[in-house]
Amino acid sequence: MRVLILGGTREARALAELLVHDGDEVVTSLAGRVARPRLPVGEVRIGGFGGIDGLADHVRGNAVDAVVDATHPFAEQISANAAAASEQAGVPLLRLERPGWSERDDAAMWHWVDDHDEAARVAAALGKRPFLTVGRQSLHRFVEPLRSHACVVRVVDPPEIALPSAWTLVQSRGPYTLEHEREAMSDTDVLVTKDSGGSHTEAKLDVAGERGIPVVVVRRASGQAGVSVVRDAADARAWVRARSGR
Ligand code: NAP
Repeated sequence: MRVLILGGTREARALAELLVHDGDEVVTSLAGRVARPRLPVGEVRIGGFGGIDGLADHVRGNAVDAVVDATHPFAEQISANAAAASEQAGVPLLRLERPGWSERDDAAMWHWVDDHDEAARVAAALGKRPFLTVGRQSLHRFVEPLRSHACVVRVVDPPEIALPSAWTLVQSRGPYTLEHEREAMSDTDVLVTKDSGGSHTEAKLDVAGERGIPVVVVRRASGQAGVSVVRDAADARAWVRARSGR
């Protein structure tokens, strides 16, 4: 099978490893946003396709047998493009998306919001020193509502925008331990996060619970209609195997 994995996540790397082991030809596609990405095994291509038509052309031109959209739960544009392009090219598409954190016992106590603008407003009312873990690309939505708050902002790569002088920038990449997060959050009073899910960045939620600080969580958008979804790389591999007849 020639499989195109839309990647940029831990699950995508895990799937590439499983499929390469099975003998599939695997190409993982990365957007190219991160300066030093963690690379999967197998072939890698980097950069956008040029929208739906570009992705459909790529799929046809490279004789791709199946596409697995294993992009981040909040990378919504590429998932929409993958659904439309796979239909256009007539190849099967699977969505591999890790579970969010809504099943945790403490999730009912969090402030769930629909988007980053609402997250910024709610955080501004709840605290004076928010810990913003929403990703570099969303930060501009927080600048005005939180300009005078003493935010601690954690990102992997430096933001392209100028941050307010009251904010502190921390550049790091997970996974994070409980001890690390206790230190990182010691001077913050509200946690702001997306419902990204996964264990690598989950410790901050435990620390917020320990310290009794409020948590603001941006909900995931609903997925693409008609696209099958699995939650882990093992199930995605089973889907590929079912298509390859072995
Ligand atoms: P996005 O808004 O959904 O996508 C914007 C454009 O970036 C797409 O239209 C596509 O360009 C290109 N693109 C995105 N993912 C691609 C991929 N895997 N391969 C080739 N092109 C891709 O995406 P985003 O939120 O900027 O995220 C970019 C990448 O970072 C994703 O692949 C995702 O897995 C990873 N990531 C995102 C987040 C997050 O919070 N958003 C967190 C961690 C990792 P064209 O239309 O030109 O094809």
